[in-house]
Amino acid sequence: AAKAAGKGCVRLHGAAADGATVRRNRLVRDLPDALAHGQLRLVYQPVVGTVERRVLGLEALVRWDHPVLGEVPPSEFVPLAEDDGLIVPLQRWVLDQATAELARLLAEGRDLQLGVNISVRHLQSGSLVRDVTAALARAGLPARRLMLEVTESMFIGEIERAGGDLQTLHDMGCVISLDDFGRGYSTFAYLTRLPVDVLKMDREFLAGITDDARSAALVLSVIELGRRLSIDVVAEGVETPGQLATLRELGCRFLQGHLLGRPTRPAELGAVIDAFDERVLDVPALGAPVA
Ligand code: C2E
Ligand code: MG
Ligand code: MG
Ligand code: MG
Repeated sequence: AAKAAGKGCVRLHGAAADGATVRRNRLVRDLPDALAHGQLRLVYQPVVGTVERRVLGLEALVRWDHPVLGEVPPSEFVPLAEDDGLIVPLQRWVLDQATAELARLLAEGRDLQLGVNISVRHLQSGSLVRDVTAALARAGLPARRLMLEVTESMFIGEIERAGGDLQTLHDMGCVISLDDFGRGYSTFAYLTRLPVDVLKMDREFLAGITDDARSAALVLSVIELGRRLSIDVVAEGVETPGQLATLRELGCRFLQGHLLGRPTRPAELGAVIDAFDERVLDVPALGAPVA
């Protein structure tokens, strides 16, 4: 009987793996259509400043509305696009859409910065500087309005080349942020070798900060690190008032996460920004559990 059950498990496992492969193949096959037939769209998540007490920026996040499979998250299809050469056209589309959206929001009198996630493949393609320049020109935006979000893994083994294009974009006036800081293996050395203006602290850091002194101490050190290097630190994935209270006590000035604002469709974006209720920031201090 044990043997039979064991066999059953193997079969089940195999079926699940097949299902994942079928889905993956389908996404790979349909991806070119997604771009050509307008199935991709962007949502925008607010980034809030605790001193300014308002929405200072937006992060553009791509979504795929698949006609049969429904909404597919970027964590699933961006890697596929990176594997088969579609990522550069996809990133161009993202840059064009997002800068045009920002231009609209600015034209209505708002003061905002836009964050766009950059793919390592785009950086490697050698066309990133040209594509960013073109998008800014089309939208009529100064470079300082655009923040390019890169991750450390992009630079492993090719800091010279990839770092060169990033330096060019920085010299043009673009803001450079290091995304997911602290996820996987972080190399502090990149902070001195790349032109980093902003650190986006991965939400993993926030997991235990309200009750665990060691987690809180770690967050405090990242904030201190930013202060010493004149790098702004954004806390990602702020979900609870307790996390917010602790982050404020630790001196974190920039916040992003569901508590402050969800990723939002363009149609509702202006209203969401204007209706941001600064009182959400006024959480009572918990007494941060720093050892
Ligand atoms: P990211 O750049 O770190 O973006 C933040 C992710 O955290 C987003 O997931 C966002 O929806 C999610 N998030 C925000 N607040 C909270 C919160 O309070 N709690 C939790 N649990 N999650 C929160 P999303 O939109 O699924 O994007 C995932 C990743 O996909 C992004 O991580 C980014 O690396 C990548 N991505 C998204 N859009 C693009 C794009 O246009 N181009 C490229 N190359 N990558 C993109
Ligand atoms: Mg990002
Ligand atoms: Mg991140
Ligand atoms: Mg976030």
